[in-house]
Amino acid sequence: RVPDVPLPDHLLRAADERPDAPAVIDAATGRTVTYAQLRRDVRRCAVGLRRRGMRPGDVLAIVAPNSPEWLVACLGAMSAGGIVSGINPLYTAEEIAPQLRDNGARFLLTIPPFLPVVRAAAAGADIDVMVLGEAEGATPFAEVLTDGELPGGLVDPATDLALLPYSSGTTGLPKGVMLTHRAMVTNIEQMRAVMAPRPDDRAMAVAPFFHAVGLVVVAGVTLRAGGTIVTLPRFEVDAYLAAIEEHRVTVSVVVPPIILAMARHPAVARHDLSSLRLLGSGAAPLAAELQQECAARVGCPVGQGYGMTEAVAAIALFDASVPVVPGAVGELLPGVEARIVDVMTGADLGTGETGELLVRGPNLMRGYLGNPEATAATIDAEGWLHTGDLARFDAGGNLFVDDRLKELVKVKGLQVAPAELEAVLRAHPAVADAAVIPVPDERAGERPKAVVVAAGPVATAEIVAFVADRVAPHKRITEVAFVDAIPVSPSGKILRRLLVAQDRAGALPAGERA
Ligand code: ATP
Ligand code: MG
Repeated sequence: RVPDVPLPDHLLRAADERPDAPAVIDAATGRTVTYAQLRRDVRRCAVGLRRRGMRPGDVLAIVAPNSPEWLVACLGAMSAGGIVSGINPLYTAEEIAPQLRDNGARFLLTIPPFLPVVRAAAAGADIDVMVLGEAEGATPFAEVLTDGELPGGLVDPATDLALLPYSSGTTGLPKGVMLTHRAMVTNIEQMRAVMAPRPDDRAMAVAPFFHAVGLVVVAGVTLRAGGTIVTLPRFEVDAYLAAIEEHRVTVSVVVPPIILAMARHPAVARHDLSSLRLLGSGAAPLAAELQQECAARVGCPVGQGYGMTEAVAAIALFDASVPVVPGAVGELLPGVEARIVDVMTGADLGTGETGELLVRGPNLMRGYLGNPEATAATIDAEGWLHTGDLARFDAGGNLFVDDRLKELVKVKGLQVAPAELEAVLRAHPAVADAAVIPVPDERAGERPKAVVVAAGPVATAEIVAFVADRVAPHKRITEVAFVDAIPVSPSGKILRRLLVAQDRAGALPAGERA
């Protein structure tokens, strides 16, 4: 059972017990916000937003990089009964516009450099635009904060929406995901039970707050535990390492590209990372080898979690009280049920067998906003959410996720998981990073093609032979394209769809056929 309270009240409990403890440190400026200050500003934000006309159910869109104010605005709007919808601040106007139309935002918070894009995206819509700082024609957020009384009963935690995040859009257009206060409080409690966050933790918030990893796994869990969040506006390897060192960060939950950097980047050796007690990785596949390589280099355990926007954040998570199982994404969170079913027949499979993962639990979304068809296609009549991911459990209850069903390469009727081949490719000393995409093949239907960032001189034939030595014949790579960087989303996912489109358009370096 979880407490029936609005999310902001749940996250700001430490303001009573330890009002002077630091809640948020802005790594960009060094400024510290205590729990008492955070609670006061959240309340002032709620009062101010109501003065500006916010009513329960109104949407506040936040198009800004991580900062303490992101959290003030988020929790403030939620306290007023509003619904928060974080949007990727690096999106173009063409990408932001459909989300604003979809969520019907009446309020929007951004930073001055993003105003032109936001204005273009919001053109024609009646949106109250606020900025962090000063800019012409927009209300400074500081002026919104107002002292005053907040009426009670603005939120019914069981039924009211708190957050409207968009899925990452890896496999199609992003979908608005309806999450209640109760679902969010539930998922935070589920995670807390296995992560055991501490009040003296300093957790790095480098994962963006518009995504579940940043807002829920990092900010939500840390605040609930009375710990300190260190916000970083963007990932840049030196700034990230310097912030860990300067603020004695103890926990950092990130996405796999950052684990790759921690394992391999030369800058890591230039920083004192001894304060770290735990690194977490989620949102995209991370191979056991890379996980162990990173743990050995940084000198702390690297655990994995698995989740999706439709489940608030996490579905499975490593148990911080036992040794990490490399390659596993953890055990199911308490209260979450799971099945593994045959992809073709839907029949239940047993331990050790691989199939589609179905999950059910109190932390699932109410549905996709304005899209009952997509909701019905995702959550069935018995409440099972079809994750679209290929997974298996071992006898110890550890979950292993191979890849997405939609992104498997189908070679002669056999399924090849790109993530598996990407892990093999990255194990080659001359490969800095890699992605695998399907290319059409007359005989096999499809075959895997490697897109590689070389760390040094290496011939296609050598990469092809390296992979061939390590995988079954149908998984062998026959083509390699060399690129400067692998495109990844802010939630750490390889944008294979983009690479496929580039390949089809002939925009990937021609590629060499072995
Ligand atoms: P869209 O649904 O719009 O295509 P998305 O699925 O990438 O985007 P998210 O909700 O951010 O949007 O991501 C959830 C997905 O991320 C999961 O379905 C799974 O494919 C992947 N994922 C999350 N954690 C892990 C993990 N630890 N290992 C492998 N894959 C993971
Ligand atoms: Mg998805």
